[in-house]
Amino acid sequence: MKNVITIVAIVAISISSYAQKTLESYEPVLNSTLEKSIKVSYEKGYVIEEVKPNIYVLTDGIWQSAAIVTSDGVVLIDAPESFGQKIEKAVKEVTNEPIRTLVYTHGHSDHIGGSQYLSNLKDLEIISQTGVADFLREKNDSRRLIPTRTFEGALVLKKGSKQIYLSNHMNYHSNEGDLFVSVPQDKFLMVIDVLAPGYVPFKNLDLSNNVHNYLKVFDQILAYDFDVFIGGHLTGIGTKDDVLLNKAYVNDLYETVKRIHSSTNMLEVMSAAAEKIGWNNKYLLFDTFLNKVIEDSYKEIKSRWISQLAGVDVFTKSHISTMLNYVRWDD
Ligand SMILES: [Zn+2]
Repeated sequence: MKNVITIVAIVAISISSYAQKTLESYEPVLNSTLEKSIKVSYEKGYVIEEVKPNIYVLTDGIWQSAAIVTSDGVVLIDAPESFGQKIEKAVKEVTNEPIRTLVYTHGHSDHIGGSQYLSNLKDLEIISQTGVADFLREKNDSRRLIPTRTFEGALVLKKGSKQIYLSNHMNYHSNEGDLFVSVPQDKFLMVIDVLAPGYVPFKNLDLSNNVHNYLKVFDQILAYDFDVFIGGHLTGIGTKDDVLLNKAYVNDLYETVKRIHSSTNMLEVMSAAAEKIGWNNKYLLFDTFLNKVIEDSYKEIKSRWISQLAGVDVFTKSHISTMLNYVRWDD
């Protein structure tokens, strides 16, 4: 009995130390990444910071929105669900102008689900692309207010002395519509869910529903004249260099996965596995091949990027897996 207890105790200790070791063995966030991050007081829960004259970024440390203050009211770009309740308070810290306009960059609830807390605002105009509004009407989700004004392609909002350009170049992330928001006179650009400055993209190439378009979005961003880039997540304020670095990372992913996929012999890998388990479990055998491509690609990518961008050991395998789906079935 004592032996059994000892064995159980040893197993329990090794499981818990394994779990601990796993979390602790991840690379810490790079100093260069932390240096460009806005500090958020977790007691207050948000920060509102001026990044250009009368253009503010709001963040709770994980999501970002923007407030453009004009003499014709505040134009809010997105209303993340996580800090939606604090948006009005935050804006009041920097201006007495009321929030008159809300723009949805896309339909995802994490970026616009905070609109529910703005339903009390009088005559709030909510602008989105037609496809996003159609989707939201169909979803009938009380967190996401229905747009009051829609457009297709592009729209220029003239508010006070600011001209705010809303443009859809293609859908690189969501199915219903993705917007670029720019204020050319201030060299300000906001493109949500492509990259987070200082980090590799979020999981699975920022959850892109269209990798073919996602690969092209970096050049479309770089065609703009900007020196402040807002990506919608975490707290970093980006520049052109951040976009260039992420573009190089994503191109490296594409080239590496494509090369390793085409040079890995599928039948050879499956046959080696079949010697152990037979040929009945075709899913498992095929997955063995996919996993070998992922692991071999990861070794290379990790060595080249671990000291350049944060989060390589968290999300790069998911990027490779998403890229492999594209390379094998779409490219
Ligand atoms: Zn999204």
